[in-house]
Amino acid sequence: MRVFQSDELLIATHNKGKAREMLALLKPYVRKFYTSADFGLPEPEETGVTFAENAKIKARSAAKISGKVALADDSGLAVNALHGAPGIYSARWAGEGRNFDKAMLKVHESLADSIDRSAYFICVLAMGWPDGHTEVFEGRINGQIVWPKRGDNGFGYDPIFQPDGCEVTFGQIEPDQKHKISHRAKAFKRLVNECFK
Ligand code: IMP
Repeated sequence: MRVFQSDELLIATHNKGKAREMLALLKPYVRKFYTSADFGLPEPEETGVTFAENAKIKARSAAKISGKVALADDSGLAVNALHGAPGIYSARWAGEGRNFDKAMLKVHESLADSIDRSAYFICVLAMGWPDGHTEVFEGRINGQIVWPKRGDNGFGYDPIFQPDGCEVTFGQIEPDQKHKISHRAKAFKRLVNECFK
């Protein structure tokens, strides 16, 4: 496992919300942060067939162009009765207009009468070094797809995802609470334990 020994890190995303969240989590370990916008990095095409492949594509491309160690992520919702769909296509199911009401309805309708409502959110973080080396960390949270959707907090598929052991959906719990238990929180815990010693 390669340890982060630089004091500069590029957060390889154009999503300002994601960048802010990652920066807050890694602040104690990094002197200077950059984001993709600082280097005018293009959004590489996500041609992988797994979350890990796509996260690695993003981290490698950002590290190679910038010459900095880069952190990228790829995440999504996987529904067991749908053989893992929407999976790596989670964002794409919402279409050009990022219409997640449409995407959530598609999940519900695809499940039809299925008794199995189990699903999980997954987040894969990839650290990429300019020499092409990568390290990958995964976090998952299991839960159930519910319908109708409940709550306005969060984003994406949060209103139809109820984590196991909870009475409410990710759309109903407070963001602070979600950030403690989420797939992203688990992946970050692993990343920090292994790479930021
Ligand atoms: P990415 O930016 O390619 O990683 O897109 C991931 C997509 O997965 C998002 O657009 C959401 O649809 C979905 N997703 C990932 N994490 C979450 C979450 O915590 N809540 C709800 N949806 C999520």
